[in-house]
Amino acid sequence: MSQRPDRRRAETLSDLTLAVHGGNRLDSTKALRTPLVMANSYELPDDPSDISWSASAPGLYTRNTGVNQAGLQDKLAALDGGEDAVALASGVAALHAVFFTHVRVGDHVIVSDVTYEATWRLWTELLPQRYGIEATFVDVGDLDALRAALRPNTRIVCIEAIANPTTKVADVGAIAEITHAAGAILMVDSTFTPPPFYRPLADGADLVVHSLTKYINGHGDAMGGAVIGSRELIEPIKADAMVDVGGVISPFNAWQIHRGSVTLPLRLRQHLASALAVAEFLESDPRVEYVYYPGLPSHPEHDLATRQFGGRGYGGMIAFAVAGDPDTQNRFVANLRLITSGFSLGHDDSLIVHTGTDGARVATYPLPFRTFGHLRLSVGIEETSDLLADLEAALDATFPSSGCLVEPRAADSALTRSGRMSR
Ligand SMILES: *Cc1c(COP(=O)(O)O)cnc(C)c1O
Repeated sequence: MSQRPDRRRAETLSDLTLAVHGGNRLDSTKALRTPLVMANSYELPDDPSDISWSASAPGLYTRNTGVNQAGLQDKLAALDGGEDAVALASGVAALHAVFFTHVRVGDHVIVSDVTYEATWRLWTELLPQRYGIEATFVDVGDLDALRAALRPNTRIVCIEAIANPTTKVADVGAIAEITHAAGAILMVDSTFTPPPFYRPLADGADLVVHSLTKYINGHGDAMGGAVIGSRELIEPIKADAMVDVGGVISPFNAWQIHRGSVTLPLRLRQHLASALAVAEFLESDPRVEYVYYPGLPSHPEHDLATRQFGGRGYGGMIAFAVAGDPDTQNRFVANLRLITSGFSLGHDDSLIVHTGTDGARVATYPLPFRTFGHLRLSVGIEETSDLLADLEAALDATFPSSGCLVEPRAADSALTRSGRMSR
């Protein structure tokens, strides 16, 4: 199969062009888009000595690699500026693939104290309990604490560029330098910071992990995960975690995510611009207790975020709480008409979730998170003014004495009481 444009040319293409053309594989049908190939296996040459038996060779078996998976991998590598990529069944499969492949019994890992739920569970429970691999949780904003936590057997330092759920920003360049000086590798979960918004490899990260389920697919209709980095680090992940453990992505999901990613740079423009406007609106409203968004000067790592993300933006995720008890938060969410309460993030539609205040996990979070819990808002690509109106109406409905509206929306609105768009 030919590929147009080829990998050499891809390096010179701009982000928008790469998002449209990257990894597109043309075949004998001359279809302008890679066809969906739902085959489990491929016809082998008559002479087995002609076969490439390397684990991730194409043309063998779909758990080793399929047409759609290979095209998606090429594109993801190009978008993040990496040599190679592996696409897997989910973001969590990608995280597990990195740890399973690159951490052995006797190794030690360092994990950011603010980290995605499954990463937290993998390193507080599953991997230490089953394999005795030790993890130290560190405030990676404190570089001296990071240096002090590194051991001769530290294999991986695991951070998020903007962390789920508090939006804590990590200094990837500084952490990479300290990690490499200790002989370890830096893995950045970049799910909140997809390319072309941010590319951690350019700042010294060795491995980048994405939940493709989120911004890269972008439409909330396919799960996937990916790891991007040097061939030396990615090839063993393909051989061990993909081929022998089986966390491979399905051809259909790879095809769907490849398609969704075409509009990634365009969607990001709207996510980033809208999130800043929403964060500014929330912070200016006295009924909102606090707002964490890296684009606000009040955010603890605002200056770092401005420098690290080169002024392109600050992400699409906001952590905040409305004033009052947990019941008030619940009523506020119930009063939203356009923004939906649901898991996931980075979809075209705006999503909001409650996060709890329980457990050791939040003990190291910044103070307001420990006291109030918070709401995590993923700002979608709807018109910004519609989102602001929805938030304002929900605040008015939650705090009836403070605003002019008791009901969030008039009857002639396009939004119905059922909470969804009526047209
Ligand atoms: C959602 C998420 C994941 C896991 O991705 P799935 O596709 O849901 O498995 C990993 N890291 C971060 C930061 C996430 O937000």
